[in-house]
Amino acid sequence: MPLTEFSLIERYFASITQPASPYVDLAIGDDCCLLSIPDTMQLAQSIDTLNANIHFPAEANADLIAQRALAVSVSDLAAMGASPVAFSLAISMPELSEPWLAAFSRGLQQAARHYGIALIGGDTTKGPLSLTLHVQGVVAKGRALQRHGASVGDSIFVTGSLGDAAAALAFMQGQLPVAKNAQQFFKQRYYQPSARVAVGQSLHDIATAAIDVSDGFIADLGHIAKRSAVGAVVDVSLLPVSAELQANASAEQALSYALSGGDDYELCFTAASDKRAQLLELSELIDVAITEVGTIVVGEGVRCIDEQGREIILSESGYQHF
Ligand code: ADP
Ligand code: MG
Repeated sequence: MPLTEFSLIERYFASITQPASPYVDLAIGDDCCLLSIPDTMQLAQSIDTLNANIHFPAEANADLIAQRALAVSVSDLAAMGASPVAFSLAISMPELSEPWLAAFSRGLQQAARHYGIALIGGDTTKGPLSLTLHVQGVVAKGRALQRHGASVGDSIFVTGSLGDAAAALAFMQGQLPVAKNAQQFFKQRYYQPSARVAVGQSLHDIATAAIDVSDGFIADLGHIAKRSAVGAVVDVSLLPVSAELQANASAEQALSYALSGGDDYELCFTAASDKRAQLLELSELIDVAITEVGTIVVGEGVRCIDEQGREIILSESGYQHF
């Protein structure tokens, strides 16, 4: 029997409504889903579209495409300190391939369980492969992390390591040779980024501003600086770069990926410098590296310095010293 749109939804999407959330009253199957949010909470919402061959390679494994799409979307919730609740998925596909759908559904289910977020609705259409995910989370009223609170003297922190996803993309496009033993690491960092939900949830009393690193560290820190009407100085010698990236790229190339490469989905945030000890404890508790990389200053924009305090100018091909 040919797969109808409805049986397709039943077979490949309806089961992803688990884990059930206390806030979801009605999920897939009706014209709308229904949610109830307690008075003490705010609903955090974000939507992202990923188009094949623009935001991910079309020929990638469908389960990896699904995992990456959900992680990328949940990362926005993490950046606001929100807890994931539910998401909707609008998917356009050029054809109805059951093996592709089965793999996609498996990857989506896995990521949904990992982040504790339920699929509650969506839309299924024919067209060039494209995914739009709308994620919803909850955060205690007035407590969401935002981009605008950084103040002069605050320290700048970043989670995990920077530049791996950009290096992975370069590797997959044949532009960066990577040793066999590191190939899996890079693919994982690109396709299965870790949305830093637990970090975001722990920063309500610590961070003054936060953002997730999707466009590149300097660009995203620049958003915090702009919204907070301050400047930022980053000591590039402090940037967390993975051992794998150090081993497979020149120092200059690694720095360029770390500063300007996108797709890392780490959190960048600012906090008063007396929160250092608390952040160290948090980092150990949830087993995610948190590295201090710079300072918020009077002014505007992001400046980079080396360990001697000399200014570094970024260019497309990397960086140059003055
Ligand atoms: P309508 O025509 O009323 O918009 P649809 O036939 O598009 O309804 O969808 C039927 C149900 O299946 C709805 O509850 C919708 O949210 C859900 N749905 C459709 N596509 C998806 C999808 N890709 N993922 C999850 N739920 C979906
Ligand atoms: Mg519809």
